[in-house]
Amino acid sequence: MSDIAALKAALNGIRIEDNPAIVKQKSRDFFWYSPVLKRELDHVSGDLVVSPANEAEVIRVLKACYAAGVPVTPRGSGTGNYGQAMPLSGGVVLSLAEMNAVKAVERGRVVAEPGAVLAHIDRETRKSGQELRLHPSTYNTASLAGFVAGGSGGIGSINWGGLRDVGNVLRLKVVTMEEEPRVLELTGWDLHKVMHAYGTNGIVTEVEVPLDAAYDWVDVIVGFDDYLGAVRFANLIANQDGLLFKEIAAVAAPVPHDYFLRHQKFLNKTDSVVLLMVAPHAMDPFLALARREKAEIRFRSDTATEAEKKGLPPVFELTWNHTTLRGLRVDPTITYLQVLYPFPTHVESVARMTGIFGDEVPGHLEFIRFDGNVACTGLPIVRYTTDQRLDEIMTIHEDNGCPIFNPHRYTLEEGGMKRTDEVQLAFKREADPRGLLNPGKMVAWENPDFDWKSEKVFLFPGLRTAAE
Ligand SMILES: Cc1cc2nc3c(=O)[nH]c(=O)nc-3n(C[C@H](O)[C@H](O)[C@H](O)COP(=O)(O)OP(=O)(O)OC[C@H]3O[C@@H](n4cnc5c(N)ncnc54)[C@H](O)[C@@H]3O)c2cc1C
Repeated sequence: MSDIAALKAALNGIRIEDNPAIVKQKSRDFFWYSPVLKRELDHVSGDLVVSPANEAEVIRVLKACYAAGVPVTPRGSGTGNYGQAMPLSGGVVLSLAEMNAVKAVERGRVVAEPGAVLAHIDRETRKSGQELRLHPSTYNTASLAGFVAGGSGGIGSINWGGLRDVGNVLRLKVVTMEEEPRVLELTGWDLHKVMHAYGTNGIVTEVEVPLDAAYDWVDVIVGFDDYLGAVRFANLIANQDGLLFKEIAAVAAPVPHDYFLRHQKFLNKTDSVVLLMVAPHAMDPFLALARREKAEIRFRSDTATEAEKKGLPPVFELTWNHTTLRGLRVDPTITYLQVLYPFPTHVESVARMTGIFGDEVPGHLEFIRFDGNVACTGLPIVRYTTDQRLDEIMTIHEDNGCPIFNPHRYTLEEGGMKRTDEVQLAFKREADPRGLLNPGKMVAWENPDFDWKSEKVFLFPGLRTAAE
């Protein structure tokens, strides 16, 4: 704590918050989505929240923390749901929320500060008829750098694939955590050094991303008597080359009726649904296709009355991790998984998993472009009972050729690609030689001998006492 007192003096003039209640609140993200992470991380808190106003202040903070040996965990809006932004070793929570300017909008691209909220960026780019290609369903709250460092894709992924696909981020400015912090400009493959690295190897201070033409997307909900009917319809329309959508999701009954409370009035109890954002000019041909397939439109925002639309969230706030959030609000005992159903057998895989689990794991698919093909990733709800059963459910998926990205782990390796990202590790050695950036999130750094394939759960050393 004496380190912290000295640090506060060194950061004179920069906005600091040290009220323990506020610091604890600003140390939390949506880790509680997972019953496992809720147990492990509930007690975690930083010592100080520091809010730099510009890049020069970021450099001052990193230099001072390096000298004092104080850990720094960056934070955008704190909406990550794997505990990515939780300061496992305490220290400084570096809030980038004050650095939120949209610096330049050009044809096809935007440059913004790290804390700029995605919806705010779109409001600026829409002035020139453009919008972000991709955004998470936390569009109204999440920051651009938080998305780049902690997210993976979302609305728009049906057209553009994942955030890490080459071309979806153009340039990042990154400050290193060294005795003399450096400011680096990363482009091309170098972007992968820090993208989806949870802020473990650099602080992003500027982001440049490409833009797409903006549309007044029409929200549509289509109802089906059975989930696989919804899945097949979603797959059919996702493969129509002449139609333009920004979002295609399928959700199994009874989730839509039971959890989408504000849309409940449009839905039957037994409805499985396809949730869509359709370009206005694609509505007529889409409706023709829906008629041919005998698909029943339950809701469309372009013809709904103002009274019907009052209080409704946008359809994208029923998709991606919002589906789970709406479920948790009704039934806090549920949780979820993240599954990949590989192309070209994704529909068969979904059918097999639905047959095995039924209502224990109600389905939720997000259709995405994956290496140029339409595939689907799943965020199914799980009616959680025990950790052991949760593990079994994951094993059964993997045994059936459906890889799991485990959302019940807070480390990069265990939650993501199940291997160490050597590029990110090498960059951490260079950019964070004392290992002070977001400690505990990169297993290969904390414990190079850890066998991540084993059944053991990696617990960051500082957490053991609290969690065991
Ligand atoms: C309801 C709900 C729905 C969601 N839907 C989606 C979705 O559709 N797609 C998706 O990908 N994710 C989704 N998420 C996860 C999350 O909302 C997004 O990834 C979001 O973009 C994170 O932004 P944030 O500003 O909240 O980041 P934070 O949670 O604050 O941070 C995320 C990670 O980035 C790091 N970080 C933050 N700022 C910086 C910086 N300047 N430099 C370096 N590292 C930094 C943090 O340390 C942390 O590791 C969802 C989460 C919830 C709760």
